[in-house]
Amino acid sequence: MPEGLTRNLITGGAGFVGSHLVDRLMQAGEEVICLDNYFTGRKANIEAWIAHPRFELIRHDVTEPIRLEVDRIWHLACPASPVHYQHNPIKTAKTSFLGTYNMLGLARRVGARLLLASTSEVYGDPELHPQPESYRGCVNTIGLRSCYDEGKRIAETLCFDYKRMHGTQIRVARIFNTYGPRMLPDDGRVVSNFIVQALNGQPLTLYGDGSQTRSFCYVDDLVEGLIRLMNGAHTGPINLGNPSEFTIRQLAELVRARINPALPLIEKPLPMDDPKQRQPLITLAQQELGWQPSVALEQGLEPTIADFQRRLSDCP
Ligand code: NAD
Ligand code: UDP
Repeated sequence: MPEGLTRNLITGGAGFVGSHLVDRLMQAGEEVICLDNYFTGRKANIEAWIAHPRFELIRHDVTEPIRLEVDRIWHLACPASPVHYQHNPIKTAKTSFLGTYNMLGLARRVGARLLLASTSEVYGDPELHPQPESYRGCVNTIGLRSCYDEGKRIAETLCFDYKRMHGTQIRVARIFNTYGPRMLPDDGRVVSNFIVQALNGQPLTLYGDGSQTRSFCYVDDLVEGLIRLMNGAHTGPINLGNPSEFTIRQLAELVRARINPALPLIEKPLPMDDPKQRQPLITLAQQELGWQPSVALEQGLEPTIADFQRRLSDCP
């Protein structure tokens, strides 16, 4: 490999967000090692780079240690959809704790900077709205979402203890609901569910009455925020998300209006501990990173729908 280039390790690089980050860093001329166990990631997401001399692909599980020479670690490995992280909750907790522990150990050993992909789930079902980084959250320790929520909370704790004890360079992003091309059709998250249901001519499934809210960030905006955070001086935690808030019913209406306005919306039981409202306060990201999202939900749905249309028609 050519000398002097930044050597990036992206854990979870074959996943939804990770593969878009791979694209950005490869397009910037950097070296990228993509590490993934393919639980929710797919080789198809990074296949454009597989033969490239600046790109390497490693099948590895972050719950096991690994030795590599890198400058930057983008630690994204962890299932993000409630359906997937609840599939094997003990494994999710192991991935969050042991995976972050192993990657911090690697960062310490080789002097790399580590960015943790944390989540708005650290705020749980928030009593404060919108959520600033100073809010400590309202999280159930023993519920169905706890493996992920508490897993990310201890991952943040580990990062800050490595910083305090060993001077490890850390960056912590609290990512709010992000969507875009390359989400799995069976991912289970709301944007992909609604689009796939609508494209298949099925009713759109509202959990509860659809009055709960989320704020949806387009993946390109998120990746720009992650890059600014990694390159900047602010450690975080820092919220990265789009502050435009929608009810889930509004999202369903936006999706079906674009695909098939005749489809019904049906109500299903609301899952345990489902947060009632979520909206990032992004003042810190605006001030420290000069970052704010630029893609409105109505805009970002277009390429996302087009990507699902193409993939669903490729694999009927
Ligand atoms: P994703 O499920 O598409 O990607 C996760 C990737 O990690 C997949 O490629 C998966 O195979 C890999 N992975 C999972 N467990 C692993 C393990 N033990 N070892 C190695 N690889 C493993 O999810 P995503 O939406 O791309 O999320 C990426 C990161 O961002 C996650 O850490 C997630 O918690 C965080 N995040 C995402 C969102 C969002 O809305 N997309 C919101 C908050 C936080
Ligand atoms: N949701 C829904 N129908 C679906 C999938 C999800 O109404 O088919 C709801 C879910 O109950 C939650 C919101 O949409 O209130 C966002 O769910 P998602 O799984 O995308 O993310 P998270 O709950 O982790 O924010």
